[in-house]
Amino acid sequence: MSSPHMGGTEQQFVNEAFATNWIAPLGPNVNGFEHDLELFLGEGSHVAALSSGTAGIHLGLVLLGVKAGDEVICQSMTFSATANPISYLGAIPVFVDSEPDTWNMSPELLEVAIKDRIAKGKKPKAILPVHLYGMPAKMDEINAIARRYEIPVLEDAAEALGSSINGRRCGALADISVLSFNGNKIITTSGGGALVSANEQVVKDARFLATQARDEAPHYQHSKIGYNYRMSNLCAGVGRGQMHVLADRVAKRREIYGRYHTLLAGRKGISFANELPGYFSNRWLSTILIDPATASATREDLRLTLEQENIESRPLWKPMHLQPVFESYPYYGDGTAERLFANGLCLPSGSNLTDEDMERVFAVINSVLG
Ligand SMILES: *Cc1c(COP(=O)(O)O)cnc(C)c1O
Repeated sequence: MSSPHMGGTEQQFVNEAFATNWIAPLGPNVNGFEHDLELFLGEGSHVAALSSGTAGIHLGLVLLGVKAGDEVICQSMTFSATANPISYLGAIPVFVDSEPDTWNMSPELLEVAIKDRIAKGKKPKAILPVHLYGMPAKMDEINAIARRYEIPVLEDAAEALGSSINGRRCGALADISVLSFNGNKIITTSGGGALVSANEQVVKDARFLATQARDEAPHYQHSKIGYNYRMSNLCAGVGRGQMHVLADRVAKRREIYGRYHTLLAGRKGISFANELPGYFSNRWLSTILIDPATASATREDLRLTLEQENIESRPLWKPMHLQPVFESYPYYGDGTAERLFANGLCLPSGSNLTDEDMERVFAVINSVLG
C-alpha cells in the first residue's frame, strides 16, 4: 500500500556518518535534518528530531503539562499512536468525531465536547487533531475554538508532511506539531519522528527531555524524568536524502490519487475526501468511500477481491471510541466516523508503484465495481 521509496542520496549521508563515526543519537545529520525541516515548514518553526512520531506526541503532551487524571480531547478517527501517549501519562482521552468534508476532527463537536467537559467540572488540557491520509483538518476553526477556551493544540501531522492550508504547511499549524518518518509515511528515516514548534524554548525543552533530561553538570544529574527519544544520526542521514525528493513524492502520490479519481468519479456510490478551497493534501494514501446502498459492490467485496490478487488494501482507521482498549472513555459524535470505517478503503498508494501495478489494481476495481 505504501512502502519505503529511496531517492538515491540517502546512502551518502549514512556513509558520511560511518566515515566520521557519528553513530549516535546526535551528530551533523540530526542537525542537518532538523534544519531542512525548519526551512521546509517555515512559520519560524523549530524542530527536534526524535525516534518516532509516537515519542513526539508523548513529549508534546508532557510539554503541555498533561498529568495523570487530566483530560485530553483527541480525534477518534485515527491510528492508535495518536491516543496511546495520553494513556502513557495516566491522562484521560475524550474522543471527538470527524466531519464529512476532511474526515478529521469536527470543529462543531469539538466545541460541544469542550463545553460539556467544562460543565462537568474539568477543562481539557489539550486538543489533538489529526490530518488523516494527508488531508488537512479544519485547523483555522479548531485553533479559533482552542483560543477562545484557552486550550493548547497539539497537531498530529504524522501523515501530512507536504500538505498545507492556504500555503501554510501542516506540521506548523498549532502550538506544538508532530511528524512521523516511519517506513510507510510519505518520506521515511526507517523509523523516526519530530516535534515542531514556533516557540524555540519548547523545542529546546523537547531535546532536553528526549536525552534523559540531563542537567548541566560534569556528572549525571537529573531534576526531571527524562526519555531516550532522540533520532539516531544514521536515521537522520536517510531523512536528509529523503528531503531532496519530498516534492517528487507528493507530486507522485497526488498523481496516483488523480488516476483513481479519474477512474472512479461519477460511478454510483463512490466518493472521495475532496480538498476544500485553499486546502492541499499530500494524498499520502488514496482513499475511497463505497456506499453499500447505491454502489454495485461493497467495500469488503473490493478489499477481498484485491486480496485474492495479492494486492494490499485496508479499511480506514477503526475509530478509537470503538477500540476495546478505549471504549470506556467519553465520546462526542454523530456517527460520521462509524460510517467512514464501515465504507472506506485505502488503496495502493506508494510513490514507487509502476504503471503496470496501477493497471493491475484498476483491472480488479473495474471487475468489482464495473
Ligand atoms: C504513523 C502515525 C503516528 C505514529 O508515528 P510513528 O513514527 O510510527 O510512531 C501517529 N499518528 C498517526 C496519525 C500516524 O499515522
